[in-house]
Amino acid sequence: MELLRIGVVGCGAIGREHIDRITNRLSGGKVVAVSDLFVEGAHKVGEPLGATVYSNSADLVNDPDVDAVICTTPGFAHQETVMQALEAGKPIFCEKPLTTSAEESLEIVEAEMAGGKKLVQVGFMRRFDQSYQQVKEMLDSGEFGAPLYLKCTHWNPSVDDNYDTEMAVTDTAIHEIDILHWLVNDDYESAQVMMPRQTSDKHPELKDPQLMFLRCKSGLIAMIEVFVNCKFGYDINCQIVCENGVIDLPKPSFPTYRKAGGMTTPIEQSWKKRFIQAYDVEIQDWIDATRKGEVHGPDAWDGLIANLTADALVASQKTGEIVPIQAGERPEFYK
Ligand code: NAP
Repeated sequence: MELLRIGVVGCGAIGREHIDRITNRLSGGKVVAVSDLFVEGAHKVGEPLGATVYSNSADLVNDPDVDAVICTTPGFAHQETVMQALEAGKPIFCEKPLTTSAEESLEIVEAEMAGGKKLVQVGFMRRFDQSYQQVKEMLDSGEFGAPLYLKCTHWNPSVDDNYDTEMAVTDTAIHEIDILHWLVNDDYESAQVMMPRQTSDKHPELKDPQLMFLRCKSGLIAMIEVFVNCKFGYDINCQIVCENGVIDLPKPSFPTYRKAGGMTTPIEQSWKKRFIQAYDVEIQDWIDATRKGEVHGPDAWDGLIANLTADALVASQKTGEIVPIQAGERPEFYK
């Protein structure tokens, strides 16, 4: 195949970033069409590229010059575009979450399986982050024995006023939900959320911090600390305690410096910078795989697992109780 001709639905923040990386840093793909509800925004982004500008996703998806689609609209609008792509038989990279409900994601899974070909990849970019890939390789080597429990932190300096308690799961811990079961090759069985003493800095609609527990079928327990007004920086940690040793997720490297009687190591401040390489690797890998007719990354089933797990955590946020997660076995189609 010549260059992969890509149509991008949603020209907001991350849509523009993916367009920029495809146009200026990556190879093998070209943005040939864009669409956005805010059509002036789409014109602003699309015209300098010579891309066709649409005001709706159906026309973009069905454009015969579009080989594959990237969906970067807000989560509630994802399902419509993904279903249009499946109907047109076109590969689609859909930013996370796949959809905002397990019912909608299940419809995508069923439609994709009925079509008989994997076409959907979900934008859980941490799987393309070098530090997580190193940890995965170590775990898969078997040298450390079985993983027994994991401790993770998702510390974020601050959030907007419209960020609420549920978003600690659906926007923030959703990344841990995806990466953890992938790391340890296990399935979630139940979820629980406990609220420790709350920061005085909290917003009226936000419980912060939160301690989230996920139990896997093997008995492994993952504890995820989410603290989104921690003030000091964007600090993602993951420690995996195994039978024969303990593995820590490598930290982003910053020089340690001595100054004014102290020794300091800076902490990353922005999620964008922390995962910038992962986004580049993720989209390059999607272009390369799509040109070969393959899907490599997190798929629609992973998107559904993320919804079901998030639903259980959100239910437990309200009661503190352990909530079962009933996902069933991963179908052969998605193995
Ligand atoms: P954003 O800045 O609000 O951009 C979304 C754009 O889509 C807006 O321009 C919006 O137009 C447009 N839009 C809304 N509904 C549409 C529709 N039906 N058809 C076409 N365009 C539509 O949002 P964002 O921050 O880029 O986030 C987009 C998605 O990426 C979200 O699902 C988010 O969770 C995900 N994301 C993922 C990561 C990651 O780490 N993987 C990071 C950031 C974002 P209007 O403004 O006119 O509504």
